Amino acid sequence: KIFSGGFSKTRDNLAVIDELLLYWNLADTDRVLDELEEALLVSDFGPRITIKIVESLREDILSGKLKSGSEIKDALKTSVLDILTKKGHNTELRLGFRKPAVIMIVGVNGGGKTTSLGKLAYRLKNEGAKILMAAGDTFRAAASDQLEIWAERTGCEIVVAEKENAKASSGLHTNYSLMEELIACKKAVGKVIPGAPNEILLVLDGNTGLNMLPQAREFNEVVGITGFILTKLDGSARGGCVVSVVDELSIPVKFVGVGERVEDLQPFDAEAFVNAILS
Ligand code: GDP
Repeated sequence: KIFSGGFSKTRDNLAVIDELLLYWNLADTDRVLDELEEALLVSDFGPRITIKIVESLREDILSGKLKSGSEIKDALKTSVLDILTKKGHNTELRLGFRKPAVIMIVGVNGGGKTTSLGKLAYRLKNEGAKILMAAGDTFRAAASDQLEIWAERTGCEIVVAEKENAKASSGLHTNYSLMEELIACKKAVGKVIPGAPNEILLVLDGNTGLNMLPQAREFNEVVGITGFILTKLDGSARGGCVVSVVDELSIPVKFVGVGERVEDLQPFDAEAFVNAILS
């Protein structure tokens, strides 16, 4: 239900598999697996995961463990689910017992940080938390204006850096110094509040496709990501790459964004996700 509108592309690409498996017989195995490989690749699963999945299916088919098209389909779903849940997949936020807990939200511009922060604040507030939003993006004055709108919308307090500073430093920064700024921000928070930030969530735009992987790698190397928020899954999001990102970095998806309203943030449900892309 959560993903009902999304993944149209991924779903269409993978629908081919159903037809193939319907007519599968042992003699067809190579052809069917070639097609499956192709379908996974166009769905952005990436070569590493694709080969891993296809070769493990081949082994189980040839050893007689998988005896019908529907068994192969189920095995395919299971292997994707295993990847998504392997490290005791945990969508819970780890905020510890000490207060205040700090959640840092990072990501490239336009990915959905502000929106996700607003939605997450709304969610936690409804669970009884008292929220203070902080605009860390001092490079873009407009970014804190956006956050102020979300603070108002959700009835949360907010602190914003001086607007003058924001203007003075805008436009002068390369990607590199933005990353430096992130490290400084993380350190500063940790100095004031021991153990903080408790969570560093990377917002990934569900429509990014395979560019997600280098993005996730870079942010993880720089600040150490504890979870992902996958946004814009209400659109024609490209689902496959999520699987390769989670596989490579062993970092769980904690939340998914499924729209622009305050309530459009859901804990990630791996099984629902797999059923959505491989229905
Ligand atoms: P930021 O630059 O990373 O802070 O990104 P924003 O939070 O400003 O989001 C960029 C755009 O994506 C805005 O127009 C948001 O409304 C939109 N957006 C963010 N999350 C979602 C989502 O889950 N679904 C949809 N449909 N749009 C979203």
